Amino acid sequence: MTLSWRDEIRQAIKDHQSLSHFLDYPVARTTYPLMIPPSLAEKIRKQGPTSALWKQFVPHADESLEGGFMDPIGDHLHQKAPQLIHRYKQRALLLPTTKCPVLCRYCFRKNELSIPDDLFKPNLKATISYLKDNPSITELILTGGDPLVLSTSKLKELLNEFLNIPQLKYLRLHTRFLTILPSRFTGDLIHFLRDLTTKFKTVSLCLHFNHPDEFDGDSLKALKDLRKTRVQLLSQSVLLKDINNCENTLNDLYDFCENEGVRPYYLHHPDQAKGTQHFQVSLSEGKKIYSRLRQLRPGWSLPFYILDDPKGTGKKLLE
Ligand SMILES: *Cc1c(COP(=O)(O)O)cnc(C)c1O
Ligand code: SF4
Repeated sequence: MTLSWRDEIRQAIKDHQSLSHFLDYPVARTTYPLMIPPSLAEKIRKQGPTSALWKQFVPHADESLEGGFMDPIGDHLHQKAPQLIHRYKQRALLLPTTKCPVLCRYCFRKNELSIPDDLFKPNLKATISYLKDNPSITELILTGGDPLVLSTSKLKELLNEFLNIPQLKYLRLHTRFLTILPSRFTGDLIHFLRDLTTKFKTVSLCLHFNHPDEFDGDSLKALKDLRKTRVQLLSQSVLLKDINNCENTLNDLYDFCENEGVRPYYLHHPDQAKGTQHFQVSLSEGKKIYSRLRQLRPGWSLPFYILDDPKGTGKKLLE
C-alpha cells in the first residue's frame, strides 16, 4: 500500500517505543522529539544501524552530551518582522512553518523545532510591509521547518501575497523532501513550480541531502520531473561525522548531483547546536576534507564550504 505524502506525515513514527519495535533495535530515549515517516522508516530498517540514513534520523544517547548553543547561528538577532529573518541586504528568509517532514538528529534548529507549531497562520501584514519598505530585498527564501509541508494550495495562497511586491525577482525554497518523502513532488506541485517560473525571474529549489544512499527510484523520478521545469536545482548538505566526512563520499554525492542536474551549492560545516555534539567535525578536519575534495572536482562542480557564525554575523567561506 502506498500512502500519500500527507498520510505519511500523519502516520509518522513519533515515539521511541514504536521505533524500537519497528526497527527491532533498542532506540535511545532522548529529550528531543522524533519523527520518521513510514516509508523512510522502512528504508532505514533495510539499510541498517551502520548506514548514513539510520545515523541521521534514529535518536542516539549522545544527544544528551553537554555543549553547543540553543540558537547556533544567531538568527534571532535578525528577525525583522513576524517569520522574517533579514540578515543580508539583498535577500530575506521567510519561515512559514516550523514543521518538517522528518526530524534530523543533527538539525541546527533542533532546540526550536521541539515547539510543535502548526501550518502557517496568515499573519503576513507586517511581513509584507517590511518587504515593501525594504526594496533592496530582491530574493525571498522560504525555509522553516520545511515550506513544502504546506499543501500546494496553501503555498499558492502564501506566495500570492508576495506577487505584487515589485522588487521581488527571485524566489527560493529550501526543502528536505526530495530524498525523505519524494511523493511530495506530485504533478500538482511540479505544475505549480513551473508556473512560478513565469512569475519570478529565477525560482530555485535548494535540495537538502547528505549522502548518496538517500536516493531511491522515487527521488530520481521526482528529480526527473523537476528537471523539466525551469526551476534551478541546487544542493545543500551538512558535513557530518561518520556520515559523509570523507572526500570520496562527498565526491560520489556531487557526481550524482551532476548526473541528475543538481548544482552543488552549499556544504555546511555543522552548526554548534546543543544535542548535536556527536555529529561535530573539527574545523581542521573539515578543511582537510574540502581541500582533498577540491583535488577531485572541477571548481564549477564544487560546493561552497561555509560556516554560520554563532554570533549571527552570517556565512563565512571556508577553504
Ligand atoms: C543563509 C541565509 C540566506 C541565504 O544566503 P545565500 O548565500 O543567498 O544562500 C539568507 N538569509 C539568511 C538569514 C541566511 O542565514
Ligand atoms: S529538515 Fe532541516 S529544519 Fe527540518 S529537522 Fe531536518 S535539518 Fe532541521
